[in-house]
Amino acid sequence: MSKAKNEMKFNTKTIHGGNETDPAYGSPQTPIYQSVSFQFPSAKAAADRFALKEFGQSYSRLTNPTVDMLESRLTVLDGGVGAIAAASGHAAQMLALLPLVGPGQHIVASNRLYGGTTSQLKNTFPKHFNWQTSFVDADDPQNFEAAITEETRAFFLESVTNPAGAVVDIEAIAKIAQKHHIPLIVDNTVPTPYLLRPLEWGANVVVYSTTKFMTGNGSSLGGAFVDGGNFDWGKDNRYPVLTEPCDAYHGLKFHETFGDMAMFVHGKGVSLRDIGASQQPMNAFMTLIGLETLHVRMQRHVENAQKLAEWLSQHDNVAKVSYAGLPDSPYRSLAQKYTPKGSGALFTFDIKGGMEESARFLEALQLFSFVANLGDTRSLIIHPASTTHSQLSPEHRQKAGIGDGTMRVSIGIEDAEDIMADLQRGFDAIIGSLRKAG
Ligand SMILES: *Cc1c(COP(=O)(O)O)cnc(C)c1O
Repeated sequence: MSKAKNEMKFNTKTIHGGNETDPAYGSPQTPIYQSVSFQFPSAKAAADRFALKEFGQSYSRLTNPTVDMLESRLTVLDGGVGAIAAASGHAAQMLALLPLVGPGQHIVASNRLYGGTTSQLKNTFPKHFNWQTSFVDADDPQNFEAAITEETRAFFLESVTNPAGAVVDIEAIAKIAQKHHIPLIVDNTVPTPYLLRPLEWGANVVVYSTTKFMTGNGSSLGGAFVDGGNFDWGKDNRYPVLTEPCDAYHGLKFHETFGDMAMFVHGKGVSLRDIGASQQPMNAFMTLIGLETLHVRMQRHVENAQKLAEWLSQHDNVAKVSYAGLPDSPYRSLAQKYTPKGSGALFTFDIKGGMEESARFLEALQLFSFVANLGDTRSLIIHPASTTHSQLSPEHRQKAGIGDGTMRVSIGIEDAEDIMADLQRGFDAIIGSLRKAG
């Protein structure tokens, strides 16, 4: 890694941060190495790469030069020691937890998470891995402390939550995590490192769905975790996967051998190798292209989102807007602390009406894409109660702030006036239906 490049400011790093782009031919743009395997320069190098004695290319399930480039850029953007790119955000979450949590062990997680993450933690992980999760209200950091058991091996939360954009007091929760020697994993998909860098507030691992704002154009599924290198895996022998001899590598001890980079190296050498949820080179390339404009896009995203949230909060047909950028938001002061450049582009608002009015509203829109994605240049909308959050119990949905008339929007970078005009089409359609009914 070139040191000078990695000491530049954030916006420069989105374009230049990380490894040399193309040592082979000097191409400024990262080439797509659409190749499964790479020639070993010598018999010794082949043996050393297999034994993790030398880092280098071997097989794209573990390493690929295009994917490595993405990993090194993400490492630099968050200020970590290494990153593991994965096939999706969900794959990254699993890969981050894999070395930390064993069968019968426990995670404390926020109860305001992306619906799919809640399902992962609530249904699939306990059923197949026997990883148990307690969900707590992250508005009070003490709830994390109260839920700790002997077996707790990770805290998991979203820095700014999907869908309602609640801002979590990362620093307070990180202090509790530190006191009990538990790593704090933060899903930072919604703000991206442009708005918020969790490692700077004491988090230990950051996870992303790069599918969203990082790629930024809805073209490529991907995820990553960034290892902060700031957790002592050796203390108390609570993380034996990282400290005890690994049979697959002839008794290699990850923490003893790789120190602060133990989790990252384990991610390559064991998690990616054995789980195989690797990111494709083409997707890594698309995400690198996206990252080059992350700072410019995010600036426009938050500017538009602020305008739209203010407009909606004054609208006669809106019951509620949940956006941390509004003066009456309960998250206002946390947003000022953690996301001073803006409160993200994802928020919810409740139309006056229920399921039927919601359907009418959605179907009248012309500019908004009615999709399950977020973080696209395009403005996107979805009705969580009937889609992303439909698998949750009504109580859990209520706790996540999802009602029958709740709309989740991801505000794009179009002209704000056009976005407003489109939402007005939706309101006009509801007013029409109310008139007919009346
Ligand atoms: C989308 C999303 C995920 C899952 O990511 P995929 O790339 O779809 O697997 C996880 N967390 C948050 C906050 C998300 O928005």
